[in-house]
Amino acid sequence: MNAEGTRHLLDLARATGASFFLASTSEVYGDPLVHPQRESYWGNVNPNGVRSVYDEAKRYAEAITFAYHRAHRVDTRVIRIFNTYGPRMDPFDGRVVTNFVRQALAGEPLTAYGSGEQTRSFQYVDDLVEGIVRYLDVRHPGPINLGNPDEFTMLEPARLVLELTGSASPLVFEPLPQDDPRQRRPDISRARELLGWEPRVPLREGLARTIAAMRAGGIPSEA
Ligand code: UDP
Repeated sequence: MNAEGTRHLLDLARATGASFFLASTSEVYGDPLVHPQRESYWGNVNPNGVRSVYDEAKRYAEAITFAYHRAHRVDTRVIRIFNTYGPRMDPFDGRVVTNFVRQALAGEPLTAYGSGEQTRSFQYVDDLVEGIVRYLDVRHPGPINLGNPDEFTMLEPARLVLELTGSASPLVFEPLPQDDPRQRRPDISRARELLGWEPRVPLREGLARTIAAMRAGGIPSEA
């Protein structure tokens, strides 16, 4: 879908004169050897590993978007979204924030994969939306990183979720998935400069809002 769908939509944009906005991802950086990641970094992606269908499809999506911009003058914009969380996520999507909150509220163990020392930079959804809306008014092909540069190990959201929920759940360690990136943190200089944007919601506050929303929605049991 990331490959075929992008191509079809680019053809449509070209035929109708529409603008095209690509939601790319920090996954294009793979398991990055450069830290933090600027847009100029080409990434370190395993081309045939377990994450590769997603990673490479997104890299192809960027490639073809830039090709249409250059060859067919389509008005394109590309953002690279770093880990984003917030209310109304699927509690069973398997992502770390939803897992931890769901587990804490259900009184189940919080599952940290590997040593839990790998890092991510968590962006609250409202900050992402603000960045996207600002970019709509700026004619620049990108790519532009949109993420929160505050970097945490997985132990930190686990600790915060336990504190904010008041849960007595233990933390358990499970095997690290293959090709799990060790670190990830955006350099957002370009977004600051072009969009006058930076994230405003710290992790503690975003988690509190997410927990409140998941509480209000009730904790569904797995189908
Ligand atoms: N993770 C974890 N426990 C979980 C789910 C994920 O420790 O229950 C880890 C995962 O191994 C990764 C990090 O949390 O290092 C972020 O995982 P997620 O799937 O949320 O995002 P992504 O790996 O795509 O950045």
